[in-house]
Amino acid sequence: MTDSPGRPIVGGLQPLTMIDFPRRIACVVFLRGCNLRCQYCHNPELVEKGSGDIPWDDILAFLDRRRGFLEGVVFSGGEPTFQDTLEAAIEDTLALGYAVGLHTNGAFPQRLGGLLERRRLAFVALDIKAPPGHYRDLTGVPIDAAVRESARLLIDSAIEHEFRTTVHPTLVSPEWILQIGDFLKSLGTTRFVLQKFQEGKTLDPSLPPITGEWLGKSVLTRLRQQFPRFGIRGDPTAEKDLAA
Ligand code: SF4
Repeated sequence: MTDSPGRPIVGGLQPLTMIDFPRRIACVVFLRGCNLRCQYCHNPELVEKGSGDIPWDDILAFLDRRRGFLEGVVFSGGEPTFQDTLEAAIEDTLALGYAVGLHTNGAFPQRLGGLLERRRLAFVALDIKAPPGHYRDLTGVPIDAAVRESARLLIDSAIEHEFRTTVHPTLVSPEWILQIGDFLKSLGTTRFVLQKFQEGKTLDPSLPPITGEWLGKSVLTRLRQQFPRFGIRGDPTAEKDLAA
């Protein structure tokens, strides 16, 4: 299936989520295409832009029908800011009365900055893949400066946000986690979430499941001290410890 020129290339729709947009009942629209190639990527079918799987008009029709029930729409991917049609898609979504959230890898600060400046976003989750200077090692692309700029723009915008890092111990070491923490702390954010890698479909199918400890106590202690709103996802035991 192909999509119309100038329309976003949609790879999927999650019709309901209670966890991707804080305090809002939302859906997630997955846009195709990504500039990175993270080994642990759980959406390998979305990294190539290809052609659309769902026409944008069908998404709009769905959003129209869900008005009054859904409150927000999250654009995810792939990398949603990779598409220059994102802004028009967000305008369409706002026109239907929805709040808009964005999940991004921060690779395109100019695009993100424009949306922030025009107050088009109510929430942004920015993935920090690696500490500054190591992006090429994990993603294949040295976008360190772009991510730094996106992070700075996001914090300066004062729009609700979170920074988050996916951890697979063979790819992201404890030293890296601490360096990412120091980097984010230096920018002044209070919200940082570590996400435990979840076994399943990945861009690199040879990536093994996590069998041992993925987050040491000393790292956890340090991050809890650094970030008043530190969080963990994907590990019920660690989440329980955090709540204690
Ligand atoms: S995990 Fe990496 S490769 Fe996959 S969509 Fe996100 S940024 Fe792109």
